[in-house]
Formats: sequence, C-alpha cells, structure tokens
Amino acid sequence: MKARRIKLKVIIAQKLLQANEEIAGENRHLLAKHDVLTLNLISAPGAGKTTLLEKTIAALKEEMVIGVIEGDIYTTKDAERIAGQQVEVVQINTHGACHLDAQMIREAINALPLAQLDLLFIENVGNLVCPAEFDLGENYKIALLSAAEGSDKPAKYPLVFREAQAAILNKIDLLPYMDFDLETMLAQVKKIKEELIVFPLSAKTSEGMGAWLQWLKRLVPKKKRLFATAW
Ligand code: MG
Ligand code: ZN
Repeated sequence: MKARRIKLKVIIAQKLLQANEEIAGENRHLLAKHDVLTLNLISAPGAGKTTLLEKTIAALKEEMVIGVIEGDIYTTKDAERIAGQQVEVVQINTHGACHLDAQMIREAINALPLAQLDLLFIENVGNLVCPAEFDLGENYKIALLSAAEGSDKPAKYPLVFREAQAAILNKIDLLPYMDFDLETMLAQVKKIKEELIVFPLSAKTSEGMGAWLQWLKRLVPKKKRLFATAW
C-alpha cells in the first residue's frame, strides 16, 4: 500500500515536470520570436542577485532595452529596487513556493513589452536547489555564488552548476576576510562542467564586472541597432 502511494507521488511529480517543460517550450518560442535573450539567475538567498542586476542594468541600459521578472516568496522589495533603474519590472510572488515555474513566467512575459526588449533577466527565488530543476523557457541559467558562502557549494549543489551556462562568484571584495577558497571552488566547478565560464566579481565595488558585461553584450542580439546608436 505504502509503496503504491510512493509510486503515485513519483508519477505526479513527473507529470508536473512534464507540463512545466511544455509551457517552458512555449515561453522559449515566444521569447525567440521577439529576439529577447532571457537569463535565469539562480542563487541561495543573500548571494547578491538583486545588487548584481542593479549594477548590470545601470551599466547596460543605454545600449539595450532590459526587462526584469522578479521572483520573491512574499515581498516586493527587490522589484522596487529594480524599478528604481527605470526598466520594465514584473513581480511574481510565489506565496510560499520555493522556485519559479514556467506557468508563472508565461503570465509575467505576457505583461512585458517583448517587442521592445533585448534582454530579460529572471531573478529566481533565493534557493540553490529546485530552481535548477525547472525550465522556465530561458536561454541560459546563471548560477550565482558569493564569497560569503562555502567554497564547497558547487560540490554540494551540482545540479545548478551543471544546468548553468555561466557562473558568477560575487562579493570577491570579501575574499580576504573569508575562508572561501577560490581554487577549490573553481576545481569543483570544472569537475561538474568543464566548459562552465566563471566570472569572479564584486557587484558592490564593480571589480570584475567588465568581463561579465562584455559577455552579455556579445550575447544580446543587436536587434535594436536602429535605436541604440552606441552599437
Ligand atoms: Mg534579490
Ligand atoms: Zn522549489
């Protein structure tokens, strides 16, 4: 009896993920139709996703049109900070759920002016575990870690690093005061995914931000060439 119940649970979980995949595919299709490069930022709480976004937007908003989907369990604090950058922001409150799913993103992108956007950031709920399992229809997942965390995080949470196309080590200004071992972290990342690009940076002091910004500029399709004379 018990075994059957467990089996049923597994089947339901598979069905949910399957339904998520389908909607994610539709999201990806819609975003591609409008040439919107979409990045899904995943980290534990407090790693600095919102600060990184604020600094990234401030540096790039003259050159491209950026939108943000802010995932948060209950509050709108992060969305208010991003809105201060005068970009399009849609807030998703998950009301307890510890990750965003493709259905939530479908509703959010319907509220965004996709035809105008070049780059869309999704700030996922602060959680290094299950956001990695949910395809939202993004082009790339970005794994974010901070020097205030343990350098063994990649080994402990390998899935997010396997799924990501780039990783950011934030708060490198704190490295002299922390036990964080950069070599250990980089070695672990290499073991999980040899080709994963890692950007060590400090969103607070801007150290190392240049390489990350250059990478973004290369990725974003230049469809707004007509309006962005800086290109
Ligand atoms: Mg945040
Ligand atoms: Zn979750």
